[in-house]
Amino acid sequence: MTPLVSSPEQYRKADFDVYRVREDFPILHREVYGKPLIYLDNAATTQKPRAVIEAIRRYYEETNANIHRGLHFLSERATEQYEAVRRKIQEFLGASESCEVVFTRGTTESINLVASSLGRLLLQPGDEVVLTTMEHHSNIVPWQLICSATGAKIRVVPINDCGELCLEDFERLLNPRTKIVALTHVSNALGTVNPVHQVVQMAKTVNATVVVDGAQAVSHLPVDVRQLGCDFYAFSGHKLFGPTGIGVLWGRAELLEAMPPYQGGGEMIRTVTFEESTWAKIPHKFEAGTPPIAEVIGLGAAVDYVLQVGYAAIGEHEAALLERATRALATIPGLRIIGNAREKAAVVSFVLEGVHPHDIGTILDRDGIAIRAGHHCAQPLMQRFGVAATARASFAFYNTFSEVDALAAGVEKVIEVFS
Ligand code: PMP
Repeated sequence: MTPLVSSPEQYRKADFDVYRVREDFPILHREVYGKPLIYLDNAATTQKPRAVIEAIRRYYEETNANIHRGLHFLSERATEQYEAVRRKIQEFLGASESCEVVFTRGTTESINLVASSLGRLLLQPGDEVVLTTMEHHSNIVPWQLICSATGAKIRVVPINDCGELCLEDFERLLNPRTKIVALTHVSNALGTVNPVHQVVQMAKTVNATVVVDGAQAVSHLPVDVRQLGCDFYAFSGHKLFGPTGIGVLWGRAELLEAMPPYQGGGEMIRTVTFEESTWAKIPHKFEAGTPPIAEVIGLGAAVDYVLQVGYAAIGEHEAALLERATRALATIPGLRIIGNAREKAAVVSFVLEGVHPHDIGTILDRDGIAIRAGHHCAQPLMQRFGVAATARASFAFYNTFSEVDALAAGVEKVIEVFS
């Protein structure tokens, strides 16, 4: 698409042109119900640039083989490519060693791995795991499972009406029984960016291990695990413009080494007899079975792509999208935005008086506008705000101001339909 001269994107940074970036995403040029697709469901999953699609295609056409096994050409090439992505993720996260990067199926599996394995290592009856009110079910249920197996208890940090953590309450919750603190970096339902560095410093006063759910953070902001000071960091490839079926768990080497395996099978062992087995070194101890090789390679291409766009440009463009969306929606009568944190990613959750969020989603969909409506896998958070569900528009760097305006116009239309 040729850049529109009259477009409000004109004031963009010289090196970031949203219309040029959109050219890299084939799906953004399709129509739905005869209307141009306006994709505002990026917190659920992001679209894939051609570079990612091509990297996967090339892998299957030129390299496909199982890794770490065959002593043949293709197997060696596939292993090299797979392990090169591990080093890329190490750099991407600012980790000290590549053996600290474990490939999983996604954030959900990463958190289940750490809850199950670290939980078995650390938790005793009466110990406490601290979560926050704004957690995704993926960062609640795995902790419930391990707490019921070990006799540990879950404690919850409340949030204020803007959707920010109440740090004084967090401080009061901390005590010598606090073994693990698990929190999201960015809330999928509110957009709140949590002060992870500060939370880690507070948690470390009682020597708690800190697990960060980065599912919603990596597409919006640069992450440096050493600067954050956390012990584990989890994210999903598909929310970072990469493939589904691949995720990352970064963990401190000494903790990963001390933790028992999560799953057993091929690849994760050193020796096996019917009496006992011994484990491979990290990270392989946590990668049982044939991994998602093509997906890892696609994730590597996604990371290269995002770094080439650059987090500075992403941050600036998304902040402008968020401001425009907030301004446009906040003035609509009967519309209430849920989540007004000072530090906020480009996510706008809202409810409309007298209209169910599903109806908002359905009417917008007919105009080609894809948003999410529901509890966003955050039922305790919905309860906190006294709603059963919200409508949520979540943006990525390839969204335009015109799309924000179309969203606001679409919501006005919903009101007309229901008036
Ligand atoms: N945590 C958060 C904050 C999320 O938004 C999501 C996905 N909606 C997850 C965890 C789970 O990610 P996945 O489904 O990719 O495992």
